[in-house]
Amino acid sequence: MASSVAQTAVGKALRDVLAKVQKAAEKAGRSQPPRLVAVSKTKPVSMLMEAYNAGQRHFGENYVQELLEKAPEMPRDVHWHFIGHLQSNKAKALVQAVPNLYSVETVDSEKIANHLNRACEGAQRDEKLKVMVQVNTSGEETKYGVEPNECVDLAKHVHNQCPNLRLAGLMTIGMLDYTSKPENFQMLLDCRQRVCRELDLPEDDLELSMGMSQDFEAATEMGSTNVRVGSSIFGARDYSQK
Ligand SMILES: *Cc1c(COP(=O)(O)O)cnc(C)c1O
Repeated sequence: MASSVAQTAVGKALRDVLAKVQKAAEKAGRSQPPRLVAVSKTKPVSMLMEAYNAGQRHFGENYVQELLEKAPEMPRDVHWHFIGHLQSNKAKALVQAVPNLYSVETVDSEKIANHLNRACEGAQRDEKLKVMVQVNTSGEETKYGVEPNECVDLAKHVHNQCPNLRLAGLMTIGMLDYTSKPENFQMLLDCRQRVCRELDLPEDDLELSMGMSQDFEAATEMGSTNVRVGSSIFGARDYSQK
């Protein structure tokens, strides 16, 4: 059984990525490798199921509508990560329709944190919704992610003012073109240090979501606890159908 599963292209690619993550973690002397989130945006449920059957449980999606369509088609023990830009008028649908929503990694304003917090009030959730503060570490002009010097204030807001949310960590994409430099990862490490000092939390309490197909090994070596890998597992994305 396991051998037939291993033969699917997705299963094999997944195993390759997991092996590289493991190796990078060992190289950096880490006792535990980061969690791998399989980023499945634009990919059909059949491919997600190939990853699922190869043991993958954490999946990441960028578009609310797409997640709302896929979540009911997938087994309930999937842990969904929302990693796209979230509009506040979609927060309620996202939280209420996806009971196995594991985390929202892209909180970048008090407004969206408040909407998520309120959305959790009427939702059937077993635990608090984990959220991450998205930080713009590129210094480039973009609408998404708070500036590094704003991360403490937003983290504090989530921690102190949003009882239905749990501040789970910090997330970054890197540069505007979705590549990243070591400086981007270092910036996120620095942000975590400041947030933990301000909130009096041990650094191990806050995750770092950083690293994608091009740079998940580098991110792992620098301390990422959550790598988000899409095309290396599922192949290049084709947006022409969308
Ligand atoms: C698409 C996406 C990824 C995965 O990108 P790949 O380069 O395909 O691995 C990771 N994080 C975010 C936020 C994304 O939008």
